[in-house]
Amino acid sequence: MLYHSLKNYQNLVSFEDAVLTGLSPDGGLYMPECIPKLEHKFIHQLSIYDIYTIAMFVIKPYIGKYIPEKFIDDIIHDTLNFPFPLKKIHDNIHVLELFHGPTLAFKDVGAKFMAGCLSFFSDKLGKSITVLVATSGDTGGAVAKGFHQKPGIEVIILYPYNGISPIQEKQITSLGDNILALEIDGDFDDCQNMVKHAFLDKELKKKYTLTSANSINVGRWLPQMFYYFIAYKKMIVEKNPSELIFSVPSGNFGNICAGMMANRMGLPIKFFIASTNSNDTIPRFLKSEKYHPISVKKTISNAMDISDPSNFSRIWHLYQKNMFQLRKKLNSYKFTDEETLSIIKMIWKKYKYMLDPHGAIGYLGLRQYLQENKNFSDPSIFLETAHPIKFLNHMPAFLQKKIVPPSQKIETFLNTKNKNKKISLSNDFNIFKTWLLDRSIK
Ligand SMILES: *Cc1c(COP(=O)(O)O)cnc(C)c1O
Repeated sequence: MLYHSLKNYQNLVSFEDAVLTGLSPDGGLYMPECIPKLEHKFIHQLSIYDIYTIAMFVIKPYIGKYIPEKFIDDIIHDTLNFPFPLKKIHDNIHVLELFHGPTLAFKDVGAKFMAGCLSFFSDKLGKSITVLVATSGDTGGAVAKGFHQKPGIEVIILYPYNGISPIQEKQITSLGDNILALEIDGDFDDCQNMVKHAFLDKELKKKYTLTSANSINVGRWLPQMFYYFIAYKKMIVEKNPSELIFSVPSGNFGNICAGMMANRMGLPIKFFIASTNSNDTIPRFLKSEKYHPISVKKTISNAMDISDPSNFSRIWHLYQKNMFQLRKKLNSYKFTDEETLSIIKMIWKKYKYMLDPHGAIGYLGLRQYLQENKNFSDPSIFLETAHPIKFLNHMPAFLQKKIVPPSQKIETFLNTKNKNKKISLSNDFNIFKTWLLDRSIK
């Protein structure tokens, strides 16, 4: 399996090079040149396989010979080492909880998987690798945790000043060692642009072996397909569905795009709903056919405060830039903070289930779709992407005290004894570049 750049289909690279470079030198995202189809029989018998076997079937064709199977198997076991409960909320609406990992958000899976791949490649090449990553909140924590103390790898995380929650900041700034936190006086899109810019910079490339750990990196993006297979496996045990509907709270559109890949591999998914907060570039695009990102608005679902989602170019490619085809598989709705808060309260009062602001938007998207498509009776799932405690300050006041702390040891992050190490930089690529060039690599 080779990967081509979305800007030039002739630029083909291996999985190893795609993971090691993150972004193609022409600035395009990498995309697998083909999408393997899994056997019909395998899909319909998913319930008899364990999740590790399923994950191996799903991911192996994308890695091929670049990592030995035994090693992939270790990475998979290391990555999927926490539960992914599927719960019924009411009627046909289910929630897939993806926040039981070490940093309480779904990005733990992609980050850990990628860290495993990168360790393998760093060791094989005998080279130290620098991971540059922009975060709207949760990527930073997941990547910091997944890569902490991995030999041969250093991680530089750029996050927006005042744009992430206190726990998220703690998760990024408290580990130290090979994890460096840069607070940028800008928003997420500014951080992401600086990272993209750095990859294309000749002087930086001379000094560093740079890669990204954003969902633009195939090593982080593709393992997110696992969620959809796991959900289907759990659903067939319960209900034997023919097709599923997924609502995915979306920011950079990596997670939903992974779902669309799972669908192309043969997983029966009827429809996707990309649920967004007020950063509604994609809902507007699907209506008007005009792609017109405007400046980022701050919301209480801050991990989705992104107005120019990188992975949308992958989705657009998957549907051959054909709006008619895309609309058959995808709709996108946006919701305000007020709507988000009121649904969190309502779901708690009625069903005693506590949504976080991101999952709440997932629920709202699903509800809107089901209201518009009343004849649909198969099970539907929204993804709950973070634990509500991570967004404590944004939760309705009367619920804050009711949040049950997760079993994971978040005290390590909340412990004030841990140093908060960060470097503040202005939103200027040249200042960032000078800083990178002047510092010595550990
Ligand atoms: C990153 C994140 C999202 C958005 O996922 P994308 O793949 O960027 O669309 C949603 N919810 C939470 C909690 C996140 O951390």
